[in-house]
Amino acid sequence: MPKTGFLERLQNGEAIICAEGYMWELERRGFLKSGAFTPEIILEQPNRVRNLHEEYVHAGSDVVEAFTYYGHRQKMKTIGREDELETLNLTALKIARDVADETNTLMAGNLSNTNVFNPDDPTTYDVASQIFQEQVEWAVKGGADFIIGETFCEYKEAHLALEAIQKFGNGLPAVITLVPYGPDRTTDELPFPVALRKLEEAGAAVVGLNCGRGPETMLPLLKEVRKSCKGPIAALPVPFRTTPKEKTFQSLTNPKTGEPLFPLDNDTTLCSRSEVRKFAEEAKNIGVQYIGLCCGSSSNLLREVAQAYGRSPPTNRYTPDMTKNSYFSGNISGHAKKVFSFMKCQVE
Ligand SMILES: [Zn+2]
Repeated sequence: MPKTGFLERLQNGEAIICAEGYMWELERRGFLKSGAFTPEIILEQPNRVRNLHEEYVHAGSDVVEAFTYYGHRQKMKTIGREDELETLNLTALKIARDVADETNTLMAGNLSNTNVFNPDDPTTYDVASQIFQEQVEWAVKGGADFIIGETFCEYKEAHLALEAIQKFGNGLPAVITLVPYGPDRTTDELPFPVALRKLEEAGAAVVGLNCGRGPETMLPLLKEVRKSCKGPIAALPVPFRTTPKEKTFQSLTNPKTGEPLFPLDNDTTLCSRSEVRKFAEEAKNIGVQYIGLCCGSSSNLLREVAQAYGRSPPTNRYTPDMTKNSYFSGNISGHAKKVFSFMKCQVE
């Protein structure tokens, strides 16, 4: 069991580091299909997911988030595997529970946007609520310590997810995060600081922002959220170089050609580790208590976040040390100096 529970840690003022971005990383590794972005790898190669959970804990994550993102009825229908929905969810939860138990970390169930919800069509409210209900019930069965509902662009859908966690979640705490796109408001027209405050008042243990924006464009909004919300806030940006002109990773264009990058060519604007480190330091200063990275994350980037939050995860022993480098140690002589000058383009 974890040293202390999720709520207790929050109440003690401790930070929670949560690795996200499983879908994106497993796609990058060649085990998930871009497009539908569904997690059938859980059924086909569960050990790949287990390894990634272990890797993220090694890099500093306090949370093993069950990989049920887009593992919901609507999404599984699009790939014709709706009948395997329950098996997929329970398997994902079991893998996450096992890793959390082995590593003394917390395990989270996971709900996501349904892609069927339409704030103007009341019939979709029931569809979304049913999707949330069954996933919450599986998360309880799978032994989750808390439940994350994430990537909602509508306040109302996020609220339905929270309601489902409260009704069917056996008292488990809820972390609810909204995805900020270009405007500083949800697609059902509520400013994020207002929407998140309402979710907090409705009983979410943590509220915040995940996905959509990179560090540079998420930080100004986080400051506003911090002013508006009273309790712990969350930030899990995508580690991409979004700008005031291209605020989301979905809108980024190739700096050389102007071509759109999403979703296959985003790597060309990936943040460096020092940019991620700077983001994490600023988030800490703002008072972000629940921190992580979403799509585009990897272990070396997560380590920067963990270190900025004062942690020493196991991967610290592999923190870069250029003093041992054959050429970049700052202390080279003889032929190595010539090689170095060739490397650095210092000679014609
Ligand atoms: Zn994401």
